[in-house]
Amino acid sequence: MALTDIDLANMDTQPFFKSQIRHLLNILETLHPGIKVYVYTKNDGPGFDLLEMPDNPVHLFNTIPLNVPAILEMTSAKEIKSRFISNQENAAIFSTEPGDWAEFSVLSPLGETENIEGFSLSIFPKEFDQDKINLVVFDEVASSITINSLTSNLLESYKDRSEHLSVMLEVNTHLNVAATKTDFLYEITRFGKYFIQFDRAVLVIHPEDTPEYFIIDSIEGDETGLQQGMSYPVYNSLVSKTILTGHHFSYRKSNNEDPEGIYRTGDYLEYPYDQVIGFPLTKVKNGPGVLVLESSREYPIKQSELAIFEMISQSLGAALTRFSLYERLNNYATIDTLTHLYNIRALKQRFEEELARAGRYQNSLVVLFLDLDKFKSVNDTYGHLVGDFVLKEISQIIRDSIRTSDIPGRYGGEEFVVIMVNADAEACMASAKRICAAVREHQFEMNETNIENRISIGLAEFPRDGESMQDLIQSADAAMYTAKRRGGDQVVKFEKGMVPKSRA
Ligand code: GH3
Ligand code: MG
Ligand code: MG
Repeated sequence: MALTDIDLANMDTQPFFKSQIRHLLNILETLHPGIKVYVYTKNDGPGFDLLEMPDNPVHLFNTIPLNVPAILEMTSAKEIKSRFISNQENAAIFSTEPGDWAEFSVLSPLGETENIEGFSLSIFPKEFDQDKINLVVFDEVASSITINSLTSNLLESYKDRSEHLSVMLEVNTHLNVAATKTDFLYEITRFGKYFIQFDRAVLVIHPEDTPEYFIIDSIEGDETGLQQGMSYPVYNSLVSKTILTGHHFSYRKSNNEDPEGIYRTGDYLEYPYDQVIGFPLTKVKNGPGVLVLESSREYPIKQSELAIFEMISQSLGAALTRFSLYERLNNYATIDTLTHLYNIRALKQRFEEELARAGRYQNSLVVLFLDLDKFKSVNDTYGHLVGDFVLKEISQIIRDSIRTSDIPGRYGGEEFVVIMVNADAEACMASAKRICAAVREHQFEMNETNIENRISIGLAEFPRDGESMQDLIQSADAAMYTAKRRGGDQVVKFEKGMVPKSRA
């Protein structure tokens, strides 16, 4: 998309930001299967309105008054943080009797202390273990949403200046897909050059865990006088000042009023650039970082150019927060979003652990490989949504048919693997047959249509049919494929000579 392609007169920035917020909420929903997250923002009256978003869960209450105790307490708190609220408080929020629809929720304020813009309300299913919840994740998502809506509001106020708006939108779109911090910086410099002449862009990060230092995170341009990864004390320099105050700085060699230094005390003496501007990544004191733009010659900078760069660097801040959230999500998330079974990464990790244990203690270990029969035709006939619904139900059937010590995971699209530890092959065979029969007999009802499903299952046993994870899965897969060739809807135990489909 080129800048000139954007139809400015008809552009609405809201859907774009809502989809970014939706993205953030998906993180919470992935980490906490079964929760529903609602975002409320301040309305013109004394209350909060539900933010209409794509793919919202079932709407409960569209407006919540300000005089609810939990909300009042939140808006007057000195330090705003996410916190648990009980079923009773929930009921107060929704002005109903305490119901059995939620045990507790997490209330996360959006905005800044003494200036609450709204809140998110994450309602947990009854069975959720409160001890497993990390409120910090909720705080981070809340602050990301806050920054997003800040940018959105700024954009709205810039609507009349169409060139700015189009650039901001494009910057945000690119930041959204950028995979690394270097990509972020590259995008920023690419777009930034429309507005300010500069020769080098430097991203400075101010880590929360060592607040007395900041780090040169990435450099786009030549590295003279600076080193990626270097850390400097937050002390007597223009960058430090911006970190501490949340205000931008600007430096020019010619009207040098004896600055303390750009990055560190006194460095301006041998500093190769003549003009520098530093923008905070968020406008808060002690913020997360600074975007520094350096130019080898001086030139006048317009107020409007400063304003746009203020926004660009804040978008960068928001994108970086999102980025680190995704990174963490990748580390934490072990659950497949659709089926709520282990995802393939977690499954393989558990498999290796169990295999090591089985080897060490001579425990038994059995692997089931499950694949739905003719599932493509379910999709083709009823559509993908119905297909997904079936996959969810199948997962529940699998869960219900095995022991709690067994480990079920989603191996691929419509393929599942179950690891069964400390059970003899016969008992595992019985479980597998139970799954097969339960799938055959289950009424998959959606939109008043009844869909029939069948499943084929292959069984492999450690160490008889393989000693490594890969060999065991391959054997189970080969047995499953044999079950398919025999007409499907059955369980087959691996025997020598059976080959998986890919080798057949
Ligand atoms: P058979 O196993 O009997 O050989 O036939 P099949 O139709 O099941 O063949 P295969 O296992 O190769 O088909 C996989 C199909 O599963 C392709 C796709 O339509 C569907 N599928 C895979 N992942 C998903 C998913 O996440 N959601 C939905 N709705 N469908 C999926
Ligand atoms: Mg398949
Ligand atoms: Mg299949």
